[in-house]
Amino acid sequence: MTETTTEETQPTFRSDVTVELVKHSAADTDVLWAARVSTAGGQSLEEITKDPERSEGLINFLMRDRHGSPFEHNSMTFFVSAPIFVFREFMRHRVGWSYNEESGRYRELRPVFYVPGRDRRLVQEVRPGKYVFVEGTEEQHRTATRAMEQTYRDSYAAYQEMLAAGVAREVARSVLPVGLFSSMYATCNARSLMHFLTLRTQHETAAVPSFPQREIEMVGELMEAEWARIMPLTHAAFNRNGRVAP
Ligand SMILES: Cc1cc2nc3c(=O)[nH]c(=O)nc-3n(C[C@H](O)[C@H](O)[C@H](O)COP(=O)(O)OP(=O)(O)OC[C@H]3O[C@@H](n4cnc5c(N)ncnc54)[C@H](O)[C@@H]3O)c2cc1C
Repeated sequence: MTETTTEETQPTFRSDVTVELVKHSAADTDVLWAARVSTAGGQSLEEITKDPERSEGLINFLMRDRHGSPFEHNSMTFFVSAPIFVFREFMRHRVGWSYNEESGRYRELRPVFYVPGRDRRLVQEVRPGKYVFVEGTEEQHRTATRAMEQTYRDSYAAYQEMLAAGVAREVARSVLPVGLFSSMYATCNARSLMHFLTLRTQHETAAVPSFPQREIEMVGELMEAEWARIMPLTHAAFNRNGRVAP
């Protein structure tokens, strides 16, 4: 069994998620380069950046008319730390995504758990599929935090008890809840990221509104900020055209 320090066996509670762009090969010029093979054949990247206005116009045209494939010639790898319930939703995105997640069989899981922050709207209104969330009261926040922290402590103690008794990690983990933090590498391209953002973020300019769970939206927002930095023209065209993936 893996040795752990006392510190690691004491549950800690987090209200945030983290996203790090660990590597990428992604730029607006990749889109232009792929698109212009249609009309000009092979050409250098310097050649296609000569006329910025024309380049911006071409990316916008591709986005508007949903010519999606030029947005696939790039790659971004993110390291994401978030609760398991977020990963469960995330991994439904099958196309243009690759995932590797930390193992609960090969390592002892660390006791880091999600509790909603004070700014997380707690109360759900309106009909299923079109939820609206409103502020919770202080009392509702206290109740949620207390119930979650107690359950997390109890379940992690049960996990530890089984490990100490020699039960395999893959069996003992059954008692851990979906609020446990996990981590993964997720690799995508701009087209698959846009499809993800269409469905998993809310935005006032979205042509098709979506109603994602806030915690996966938090991950989406952090990914979007990284992507916007490295592909600003593509990101702007995405917003200009209703945030619909081409
Ligand atoms: C707000 C919200 C609520 C949700 N609620 C639920 C829920 O209650 N229960 C639940 O099970 N899921 C739920 N989902 C998940 C949802 O049904 C999708 O699985 C998820 O959003 C991934 O979307 P996708 O299939 O378009 O993405 P990807 O799997 O990445 O697919 C991308 C695109 O490829 C095409 N494609 C992929 N696979 C196929 C295929 N087999 N056949 C034909 N075309 C294919 C489609 O055009 C698809 O849009 C929810 C999603 C959202 C955003």
